[in-house]
Amino acid sequence: MSQSFRDSAALAAHFPFDNSYARLPAQFFARQTPSNAVSPQLVKLNEALADELGLDVEWLKREAVQIFSGNLVPEGADPLAMAYAGHQFGTFVPQLGDGRAILLGEVIDRNGRRRDIQLKGAGETPFSRRGDGRAALGPVLREYIISEAMHALGVPTTRALAAVTTGQPVYRETTLPGAVFTRVAASHIRVGTFQFFAARGDTDGLKALADHVISRHYPHVRDSVRPYLALFEAVTERQAALIARWLQIGFIHGVMNTDNMTVSGETIDFGPCAFMDAYDPATVFSSIDRRGRYAYANQPAIGQWNLARLGETLLALLDPDLDKAVELANEVIKGFGERFQTHWLGGMRGKIGLATQEDGDLDLIQALLLFMQAQEADFTLTFRKLCDLAESSSNKAIFIGSFKSAEAAEPWLARWHERLARDPQSAAKRAKAMRLINPAFIPRNHRIEQAIVAAVDDSDFSLFEALLTVLAKPYEDQPSFAPYARPPEISERVLETFCGT
Ligand code: AMP
Ligand code: MG
Repeated sequence: MSQSFRDSAALAAHFPFDNSYARLPAQFFARQTPSNAVSPQLVKLNEALADELGLDVEWLKREAVQIFSGNLVPEGADPLAMAYAGHQFGTFVPQLGDGRAILLGEVIDRNGRRRDIQLKGAGETPFSRRGDGRAALGPVLREYIISEAMHALGVPTTRALAAVTTGQPVYRETTLPGAVFTRVAASHIRVGTFQFFAARGDTDGLKALADHVISRHYPHVRDSVRPYLALFEAVTERQAALIARWLQIGFIHGVMNTDNMTVSGETIDFGPCAFMDAYDPATVFSSIDRRGRYAYANQPAIGQWNLARLGETLLALLDPDLDKAVELANEVIKGFGERFQTHWLGGMRGKIGLATQEDGDLDLIQALLLFMQAQEADFTLTFRKLCDLAESSSNKAIFIGSFKSAEAAEPWLARWHERLARDPQSAAKRAKAMRLINPAFIPRNHRIEQAIVAAVDDSDFSLFEALLTVLAKPYEDQPSFAPYARPPEISERVLETFCGT
């Protein structure tokens, strides 16, 4: 054994792994060692997250490039590719699985939360089908930026721990630099994981999975009269809350297949996702979403559709009488609409500065959205400028000046002021609360594209770093980053995104 290998193996004990998924039955996964990278280089290590995970950051900085390229499997890891199925654009595929992702293991973080650490792009697995198991640098940077931005925006999401280039090319439409992304998640269990077992009629596997998910994500349902029904309700509730948050920040996931929907309630899979600039509910960015199945405003309905697929897999666990099981599942699925509406309306009230509730609020909010759509108003800036207007009427000119027709805003503003008069908050307090939920900065598509082009074409990561810096504090004005708040010029617009597989 060489000196360097022994040293790193000893130091690698710094990962406090406890791999509960690897202890599940054999049909849940395939063990798989990551492939080597020829000449890996560290692009980014998320030191704050590493610290949160309970890792020794100084040690990790020395080892990061080897560990996060897949070259060094840290002690205690039990690398594996997870099995799952999924509906892709409505069509069921009984076996997908981690074709380019390898779960190293789980750690319990400083807050006592169990977190998965997964390499994405570290080589082929038994689930790779025709894929190469690799990732290109562009999509890796995109996921890094957007998942960290989502976290800073306060939206449940998987996180970015590291990005590494491999020194090897990957072949897509063109030859691109290869990279590995390290993802941290509450778990990587998806609706499609349940579908994998249901499709095989493997009720034992399904039950083992459901029990694992309960103990990991929803321990409180264990004592319910019907724990699996309570589990289904709890997942439905978290997804309703999550999708409402997406809509409130203008996020479009882009590929809400059932294999890309977690049961933990975290946003996962940032392939073709993008944030909307001008408000239009029909907005679609993904190049492969030709029919707009996953358009901005379709996301709640698709969330419900995906949850119905989850409900189907649980029938055998809900009740021995199939009719009864279907009835129970249907009730939960139907309840999604109300759950979503409650979260959405609550959040939208906050966005326009209301701390109280009145029946007419929904109408007032919809009137603003219709107006914004007609005016092609920037979603993020409209709400941010409304914060300023809530603080002082002296900011009115700036608010109405951002619309194509300034006078057109008057009727809505009159209604809003009338409503605010019945909402007992000081202007200063209201504006402060509004600024905590209406971001000044979002990961705008054109900025991401510019950062990727500079990194891929010129190995220049300065734009990537700048984006990470500004997006870490999306609710602060940060005047030195003012240009990052602006929507793209017409020439800068990026209207299409790609899943990057
Ligand atoms: P995604 O579109 O990223 O959600 O991936 C859908 C499925 O395709 C999953 O089973 C992935 O593991 C698989 N996949 C995507 N890209 C690759 C790749 N480059 N090599 C192998 N499998 C892949
Ligand atoms: Mg996926």
